[in-house]
Amino acid sequence: MSTPTKKHTCSHCGYVTDSVSYIMDDAVKPSPDDVNLCLKCGALYVFSEDLSLREPTLEELMKLKASEDWQEVERHRRAIEYIRKKHPWPSDPTP
Ligand SMILES: [Zn+2]
Repeated sequence: MSTPTKKHTCSHCGYVTDSVSYIMDDAVKPSPDDVNLCLKCGALYVFSEDLSLREPTLEELMKLKASEDWQEVERHRRAIEYIRKKHPWPSDPTP
């Protein structure tokens, strides 16, 4: 299930996001400070108070990396990287 969000362009790959899907729990909607991963490249973003996406601050990133949630974030980032190697984004040049 996807929830519409404000449009966001990934500063790493240019992918435009206008909705989010939930890996952990279908019933949860995004809240400020929730983490979001770019579906195309796995770049990490955080929801702002107005639920727009922004890059995490260094302090937020350090706190997240020290938390028990970090392994889950890394597992999903690796899954995105694996899938993109096997199935490149349609607009990506063939490696
Ligand atoms: Zn991206």
